[in-house]
Amino acid sequence: MKKIILSLRFRTGSQAVGLLCILALATGIVRGQTQVEPDTALRMLNAQQQQFEKGIIKVADNVFTAVGFHGANTSMIVGTDGVIIVDTLFGPSSAASAAEAFRQYSDNPVKAIIYTHSHGDHIGGASAFVRDEKPEIYATESFGSAEGVNKAVDPVKAKRNVRQFGRNLSPSEITNRGVAPAGTEDSDRGKGFLPPTVTVPSSGLKTTIAGVDIEFHIGPGETDDAMFIWLPKEKVLLAGDNFYSSFPNLYAIRGTAYRDVLNWSESVGKMAVLKPHVVVPGHTLPIQGEEAATTALKD
Ligand SMILES: [Zn+2]
Repeated sequence: MKKIILSLRFRTGSQAVGLLCILALATGIVRGQTQVEPDTALRMLNAQQQQFEKGIIKVADNVFTAVGFHGANTSMIVGTDGVIIVDTLFGPSSAASAAEAFRQYSDNPVKAIIYTHSHGDHIGGASAFVRDEKPEIYATESFGSAEGVNKAVDPVKAKRNVRQFGRNLSPSEITNRGVAPAGTEDSDRGKGFLPPTVTVPSSGLKTTIAGVDIEFHIGPGETDDAMFIWLPKEKVLLAGDNFYSSFPNLYAIRGTAYRDVLNWSESVGKMAVLKPHVVVPGHTLPIQGEEAATTALKD
């Protein structure tokens, strides 16, 4: 670790913040404890429950986030003649209930759908947001490379997935999954997936959709195919799974490939440099206020 750190040269502020993240990880100056007694773990998990309370949170005049409808979050950005959906939950049933809740705030057609990365809990419900319209669907060039392991290990991964998410625990034994509520409806996994139609280049993309200025920043981390979304006028950052209020999942115990800590820390550093007024994580509650949002990313 020491050698890696010494070989880094700062070219941007984000690299400096990224390095601080690495130092924090290397020296243990991070907020969650990772090894505690069972009683303490249970208390921590119970306290985490508030992060998934179901509802729509207005994070800016034109940006709404649905929390607790499934494991991940989905957001709606309201433009002049349509809306943009960022991430689409796990399957059509959970997505349909989030879409219905969003329509209280805008019933306009969906102009674009954005997948921050290709994990199943972010892409499986797209069809439920769409009626007759045909929105553009944005994803990165490397979309689909999230798991990064050979298909041959899928049976092993499936078994370990059951352990990682406590799927065989009784309702009295399971509180939540740390970054997601327990007891989600999972039988329709991926059934609403719509394939991407627009590829975001490796240099990123700045554009206007439905009158909303929007920036796509490539940000590998929890997955290699990740990006984060920045709304420069609203100062809202939609972080995908490179940030949530939990310790970063840099090695998923279900047996996904190791996730590159340097890439992740640099991506989080780039997000912190933007000094967002709101961070909308891929999971857990949005963090509002410039100081709280930026501090959370730096932490
Ligand atoms: Zn996720």
